[in-house]
Amino acid sequence: MKRSNTTGEAAIFRDVSLKSLKSQTGGIEAPISEVLTMLRDVSSRVDGEPAQTIKDAMKVLSSHELYAPSINRFRDADRIATQYYDGLIRLHHPARQRKRSVVDAHREKRGSHGERRRVSADVKNALENDNCWKFDILHLEKVSDHHALSQVGMKVFERWKVCDVLGCSDDLLNRWILSIEAHYHAGNTYHNATHAADVLQATSFFLDSSNVATHVNESHAVAALLAAAVHDLDHPGRGNAYLINTRQSLAILYNDNSILENHHIALAFQLTLQHNANVNIFSNLSREEFIQMRHAMVEMVLATDISRHFEYLAKFNKMSVIDVAEEQRDTNSLTICDMLVKCADISNPAREWGLCQRWAHRIVEEYFEQTREEKEKGLPVTMEVFDRNTCNVPITQCGFIDMFAREAFATFTEFAKLGELSDQLESNYEKWKLMTSQWTPSHNTNLIL
Ligand SMILES: [Zn+2]
Repeated sequence: MKRSNTTGEAAIFRDVSLKSLKSQTGGIEAPISEVLTMLRDVSSRVDGEPAQTIKDAMKVLSSHELYAPSINRFRDADRIATQYYDGLIRLHHPARQRKRSVVDAHREKRGSHGERRRVSADVKNALENDNCWKFDILHLEKVSDHHALSQVGMKVFERWKVCDVLGCSDDLLNRWILSIEAHYHAGNTYHNATHAADVLQATSFFLDSSNVATHVNESHAVAALLAAAVHDLDHPGRGNAYLINTRQSLAILYNDNSILENHHIALAFQLTLQHNANVNIFSNLSREEFIQMRHAMVEMVLATDISRHFEYLAKFNKMSVIDVAEEQRDTNSLTICDMLVKCADISNPAREWGLCQRWAHRIVEEYFEQTREEKEKGLPVTMEVFDRNTCNVPITQCGFIDMFAREAFATFTEFAKLGELSDQLESNYEKWKLMTSQWTPSHNTNLIL
């Protein structure tokens, strides 16, 4: 005997009545509505628990945000996790975010026309082993006088033959990376050009692993490298929540949705394409090639929005690379690159201990400054744990690993066969954990030094 429809079921059937819509619109049907129709047919032929399970599944599939997770893996009592969640994911607005690619016309800056620098012996030495995970980007920052991005960039681009793929000259690519580098804020302790250089080096390292290379196509690999270089362009050293709370023009422009990420990639294209700047590395691509390159870069930079972390993780987890058709290979290639740039962006906890620690101090310092400003201006405090007067830095780092880094690295490194990175992450985690009991707020005074 079939149960009578509840309101919930009625709602589902309204959703799946797209079949009737199909007849009206001449064959337009989304794949998901086909799946829902199939499930409804099956559910009408079974009774009891199986029928209910199918209905529950239909309810889930009827959601508009299939990859947006409902996070319930941490207890409310877990203060650090809750604050990361509120500060980096929930951001004071209930709806999930959508991609946008509107160019920010108000913050246009003139591209710099840097001269190609001669590479000193120190820089040359510091660039050795740039294809190793142990590569010390902070040493390169020092000896290159804060030009780690352009220096490691040109070396990485040469290895990946970026000029050949883009059909541009070495000089043009060099002018481009110098212009990009000049639009990072040197005053930020974390979100500066060296962080972009670090993410670029990690992206190149990941692409190098043979298992990744098998599944990533050449243009996506180049898009991933370029996306890594620009992924935090013109970052103001304050997070999305701060921009929303202070009603910054960027927040208004992007409707509070992935504000910074939209800005980074929009500005990158704006700088690249502007007339007279002579940095258009895409000018020799065909219209179709440019559209594809742009699509991939936009997608990858937007994927670095940490508030959408679990969505991209779920997408990567659901990907199948076995016996796939050509079209699916292309989709997989992009999904892998999204994940790869994301992992590169949060790779600090998986670096050698010395680097891991120094990067942690840099980001915490930037958060301290944001908290100070929020308190000073009477704004909502995005992440209360990052108060210089009370913060236990090791606890915040364990919290970040627990919440974001561990699972992402475990999943990605298993795929890429780079298990040693997850081992390094666990070893760093143990070091942070040991430090928690000895940490006092006095340690927070001069973190960077
Ligand atoms: Zn970043």
